[in-house]
Amino acid sequence: MEFEGIVTGKVPYKERDLIVRAILRNGLSGSFYVYGGQGGGKKQKPTLLELGHMIKFRVKASHRKIEGAELMITESHQAVWSPQKIRFNVHAYYLMCLYFELLNKASIVFHPDDHELSTEHEGIFNVLSNSLFYIDQALAVENFKPAKHLWFFMVKLLFHLGIMPEGQNCAYCGTSLNDVSRLSFIPNEGHFACSNCFQGENHLGLWQRWLLAYQTSFKQIDEFFDVDFQDTDKLIQYFCHHYHLKPVELSSYRLLFK
Ligand SMILES: [Zn+2]
Repeated sequence: MEFEGIVTGKVPYKERDLIVRAILRNGLSGSFYVYGGQGGGKKQKPTLLELGHMIKFRVKASHRKIEGAELMITESHQAVWSPQKIRFNVHAYYLMCLYFELLNKASIVFHPDDHELSTEHEGIFNVLSNSLFYIDQALAVENFKPAKHLWFFMVKLLFHLGIMPEGQNCAYCGTSLNDVSRLSFIPNEGHFACSNCFQGENHLGLWQRWLLAYQTSFKQIDEFFDVDFQDTDKLIQYFCHHYHLKPVELSSYRLLFK
């Protein structure tokens, strides 16, 4: 059996083996046991299993359980795609790590015995693969804007996780938000409010950029307005609210601003 996935985490195991976590094409998070996966050895074989690389794993029918996780045992693996520039740019690298951190919190774990192939979560894989591809491409032409890339990633991820907030009506009085000139997004409560119900910053522009990014493909990211980290932070706060986390718990998020 074969699985393609993007490596989102890896842990050395024993002397030379590796446990690899990947977001699979079905959008779920799978774990693989790779004998000799740490590379090295007499021939100093380099490992393909780096963060952000898209790998095709061929797995055995049997699997093993380590510390509660069901791991698929790989027979062989090969690289399908790998970013060329990301690891040389510190902000791009931390941004990629942040994506993995968020996905590791939000994605559903794939169980090797579960042969029912659902396509329900495929969008999550596409968001990740597109995000990495377009960061790499932006770096190649020296047009990498971290906040804008994070904005696109978050907008599309929230949609594919099925947790876009309800933005039609004020959460308190029900007024249609199409009819107001001021509204506030309250990420820690996960909803929008009109200015009669909530006195705060006006987020009408933010909500419009949100909907527009949702409709815009990654391919058109260059033509999209600039976005700043203040905006993206609202989406991170909202994600954290939803998954019962605090933004400070996301270690790569803090590093992004250093
Ligand atoms: Zn209201």
